[in-house]
Amino acid sequence: MYQNILRHPGPTPIPQKVQQAMNNNIVSHRSEEFVQFFRETSNRVKPLFGTKQDILLIPSGGTAALEAAAINTVSPGEEVVVITIGAFGDYFVSICEKYGFKVHKLEKEWGQACTEDDLIQFLKPLKNIKAVFATYNETSTGVINPIEKLANVVRTHSDALFIVDGVSCIGGVPGEMDSWGIDILVTGSQKAMMLPPGLSFISVSEKAWKVIENNQTPAYYLNLLTYLEWFAKGMTPNTPAISIIYGLSAVCDLIEAEGFQQTIERHQLMKNMVREGMRALRIGLLTSEEDASPTITAIRAPEGVDLGKYIGHLKQKYYLDFAGGLGKLQGEIFRFGHMGYCFPSDILEAISLMEAGLQDFGYSFEAGAGVKAAQDVFLTKHRN
Ligand SMILES: *Cc1c(COP(=O)(O)O)cnc(C)c1O
Repeated sequence: MYQNILRHPGPTPIPQKVQQAMNNNIVSHRSEEFVQFFRETSNRVKPLFGTKQDILLIPSGGTAALEAAAINTVSPGEEVVVITIGAFGDYFVSICEKYGFKVHKLEKEWGQACTEDDLIQFLKPLKNIKAVFATYNETSTGVINPIEKLANVVRTHSDALFIVDGVSCIGGVPGEMDSWGIDILVTGSQKAMMLPPGLSFISVSEKAWKVIENNQTPAYYLNLLTYLEWFAKGMTPNTPAISIIYGLSAVCDLIEAEGFQQTIERHQLMKNMVREGMRALRIGLLTSEEDASPTITAIRAPEGVDLGKYIGHLKQKYYLDFAGGLGKLQGEIFRFGHMGYCFPSDILEAISLMEAGLQDFGYSFEAGAGVKAAQDVFLTKHRN
């Protein structure tokens, strides 16, 4: 296949420079040259997290880092709040339940964000909450939680740690761990970070390190204190994902060259282009404007079109690869990923191919309307 236009909310396309960097010769992770490079590279990730704390790198998928965040801070039998607004929030619920934590689940309807008030009311009757877990960006529904506000609620209404899954957005949205008061922030490599799967990132506040020191849940490979100890020597306890870390350095080059603020704005712009494009095609969106994610948009079935067949057709005929709905939204929505190595031109391309597919399905619309609407958003931004 010549072309594969990967518009999933992870894994995502990899820039050529990043791909090339990953071809560098493998060196020992205990060598002086690697230690230096490792320190430097992990420091360059700090602005994306908005933290002065170390960024620890675990050779794993994002889920392992979520598990690390949970088991290093909470002991069996202790009480936690998990905010879940979709399939990925449910990951945190499953992890916490598996380890015997007492879970209070703050659930929202799929497609909605958790509000400050939801959390204030939920926390009111609860005492002794050890940690509050939340998903920054819910990949199954394309909803972004107001994480700064939720962090503030946790700070002012409890003594709990605030632990955040940023897997599908860090690198494409503001991350202000220190100033917002996030205690643990986690992300993974294969979403907005423009890398292959296999590397996760975790950063821990001073408050959380104190809790971790006294925690009782056993952990070996995912023991964060071990990671911290080795990090001080510029190393990881075990063999790191050396090639992906080469790639990470190239990712930092790209984001620094663009300017992180511009990266964030590009994601906002792409979100607006997709949403306006769908409106012009009279295709429904799952979420409100306020809750809409800058990195992934959940889109409803065009009226009268079988979604499974449409998505399959786009992939087969036009090499345009979208992700379907997860869990209870399967068959109801599809997911248009626009994170990481994705630009306004990619959005125009995808909408144009979507229109071609709609014509094949006999959907009635004004040809070009979606592309034009998206392009108008793009031009308006660039005239300013
Ligand atoms: C993808 C994703 C995960 C899981 O990451 P894996 O690398 O697949 O383990 C967790 N949370 C969110 C929000 C995600 O998007």
